[in-house]
Amino acid sequence: MSTGRLTIDLDAVAANWRALDAKSDQGVQTAAVVKADAYGLGVGKVARALAAAGARRFFVAVAEEGAAVREALGPGPEISVFAGHMSGDTDMIHDLGLVPMLNSVDQLTRHFEALPGHPFGVQLDTGMNRLGLEPAEWAALRELVLAQGPRLVMSHLACADEPTHLMNRQQLDAFHEMTDDVDAPRSLAATGGILMGPDYHFDLTRPGIGLYGGLPFDKAQPVVSLDLPVVQIRDVAAGESVGYSNTWIAEHPTRVATVSGGYADGLARHVSNKAVMFHQDTPCPILGRVSMDLICVDVTHLSETPKALTILGDHQSVDDLADVAGTIGYEVLTQLGARYARYYARGRG
Ligand SMILES: *Cc1c(COP(=O)(O)O)cnc(C)c1O
Repeated sequence: MSTGRLTIDLDAVAANWRALDAKSDQGVQTAAVVKADAYGLGVGKVARALAAAGARRFFVAVAEEGAAVREALGPGPEISVFAGHMSGDTDMIHDLGLVPMLNSVDQLTRHFEALPGHPFGVQLDTGMNRLGLEPAEWAALRELVLAQGPRLVMSHLACADEPTHLMNRQQLDAFHEMTDDVDAPRSLAATGGILMGPDYHFDLTRPGIGLYGGLPFDKAQPVVSLDLPVVQIRDVAAGESVGYSNTWIAEHPTRVATVSGGYADGLARHVSNKAVMFHQDTPCPILGRVSMDLICVDVTHLSETPKALTILGDHQSVDDLADVAGTIGYEVLTQLGARYARYYARGRG
């Protein structure tokens, strides 16, 4: 086996869903966001594990993603689409029984004309200015929309990863103002909003990243581990260089392991000369540039010759690696490449 080995712990995903579910009151439903192939982890297996844990409502970004979720889950669970009802989506929405979260006047018109009586939700913009009806549009259309019985009225927080940010309170106030006299179920919180407490929970929460072991859910169980096999080991003399553009030069004799995995596998070039991998508990620095398919690592200090090195696992989370790369755990997860051998584990150890 020469490709990396990506292990995805489905029991940890289920445990994270239960832990987030337990953070809100009995009457609050906890959905599961499985967009972007369940944040890169494989939507079929992840959605089934979440359904087994008790999730009944799933969210995807675009209608196309709903097909794999419907196939994995069968007819029962509700699958909602954040992008709403786009032109060309009508058949998919109808045939797969998807619930579009309508976000503009155009979409409302399209939906009510193309699929009268088909379930839908509405997205309101409370300040993020990304998706959803503006307050004035909502004021003008709300009676008409509410008469059609939306399954959900939702908005999204821009700064929920910073609980003390004033934007959170402003969006909460705006959401109350726009929806307090609405009978339909309401939703404002993703993972960060759940952690900010019951004021933000309303009737339904929509966690994504927390299910997959990422911040801001710092109590999450880790979900992914990634081991890269060693392809070759060599001894480099002082003064010799390693990798493209000679960005690392040995100051003393160094034992270098070349592992299989690179930026084509989602391991950002930004971690060149910065990140570490692990042999059991021992950190091993990356030497030189990350290339497309290979990374060189300092193993001089190890007492044995490693067969593989670990880049994601107990000692380095997706957020740790993201910090080094100057990005966020969400991006590390969703970039994990298609080349890995993927193993779906039940339970750790
Ligand atoms: C992605 C997304 C979520 C999930 O957010 P996390 O931060 O991953 O929990 C919830 N709601 C909307 C509208 C989203 O786009």
